[in-house]
Amino acid sequence: MRRRTAAAILALASLARCSPPVAVPERGGAAIVQTSIINALMLGRYDGVTPVADLLGLGDFGLGTVDRLDGELIILDGRAYQARGDGSVVDASRTTTPFAVVTPFEEDGSLPCPPSRRLADLEAALDATLPWKNSFVAIRIEADLEAITIRSVPRQEPPYRPLEEVSRGQSVWAREEVKGTLLGIRSPAWVGGLSVPGHHWHFISAGRDLGGHVLDVRVRAGTVRYAVRREWRILLPDDSPGFDAVDLTPDLSRELKRVESAREPSTQ
Ligand code: ZN
Repeated sequence: MRRRTAAAILALASLARCSPPVAVPERGGAAIVQTSIINALMLGRYDGVTPVADLLGLGDFGLGTVDRLDGELIILDGRAYQARGDGSVVDASRTTTPFAVVTPFEEDGSLPCPPSRRLADLEAALDATLPWKNSFVAIRIEADLEAITIRSVPRQEPPYRPLEEVSRGQSVWAREEVKGTLLGIRSPAWVGGLSVPGHHWHFISAGRDLGGHVLDVRVRAGTVRYAVRREWRILLPDDSPGFDAVDLTPDLSRELKRVESAREPSTQ
């Protein structure tokens, strides 16, 4: 019996050593809400189906794209920005979106951002610290960046081509010494073709004049704030012609990975 107690104390002590230095969120809280599913976007459904203004009523933080794929959508502090393929950042509150993810950013905890030489290093450090792998985590980093590489995509005209093909014409910008906000949604690996599994990052500069989908980043310092989400709502388009006729079941995970992380515009 005594030996068993000693073993239990040892086990507890080792658990304490391994437990992450972050606050454990309470159950409940707000939902993470998305409009449409990522496979629909992958297959070229770029017409906006949900007003951005409606999404602002469901969350003050989020990311996605806008009607006709006319840039990257960034929702921060209740304001919507559109980072377009020509490099401009404009108000997006009066447009619509074919795919976006939002949530009210009610913080569960914060921690200093680890300095990171690459985006993959930042993601690995966050994964080691924020353990809720099968839940959604909204992550907001106020960051002092040594460098960042971002992209946006040009507005499309019908008939639409698949996203992987369109993304070959993306605009890519590399900047050094920038301050701003990294907005991340970390979705569980199991979301499959419904949303973007793993980390998905957008960025907007402190001056709100530079933004896009993050391909790489070198972080000097910053503050990470996070909100864990255990309720997931999907708004399916109800007035999008042909939505119910499309086969949304193909496994497009490899194509999605290429779309999310391709660093250079392709020459093909
Ligand atoms: Zn994106």
